[in-house]
Amino acid sequence: MGEGRRIELVVRIDPLVLAGEQYVLEPEQVLVKLEVSRMTGSGYALRLRFRTALTGQCMRCLKAASPEVEVEAREVDRPGGGEELESPYVDGEKLNLAAWARDAFVLAAPAKVLCKEDCAGLCQVCAADLNDLDPAGPGHHHEQERDPRWAKLSELKLQ
Ligand SMILES: [Zn+2]
Ligand SMILES: [Zn+2]
Repeated sequence: MGEGRRIELVVRIDPLVLAGEQYVLEPEQVLVKLEVSRMTGSGYALRLRFRTALTGQCMRCLKAASPEVEVEAREVDRPGGGEELESPYVDGEKLNLAAWARDAFVLAAPAKVLCKEDCAGLCQVCAADLNDLDPAGPGHHHEQERDPRWAKLSELKLQ
């Protein structure tokens, strides 16, 4: 592999929809650090790195969330080297950096966007925010829902 060249480029990444909610990147214009090395013979080895935050609704408690996402990806493009050695983002001497950066971001993005790693979420019964509970307090409980089979038995008993 030959000498690498480092370039910094600004790429805009459009919002993405995860679990039906829209998430915007903050900043949307990301500074991508690109390393390009010409391979001996022909072709290129490429590496990109950037970090940005994904902002939107916490998937558990619905409050604002903006987890940082660190993206690192590599591509190799060696024309005629077979499918594995041809990058879908390289066309001759042109690199589709916007498409590559977006795909790499989607792969690096967390499956669950949370306001904090251990977000307690909302109560399934009354939708109270369980993050607001006093940790020293008694916790948050509801009477167990009555099992319908037992409800029928209790009706029988009344007859
Ligand atoms: Zn949350
Ligand atoms: Zn509750």
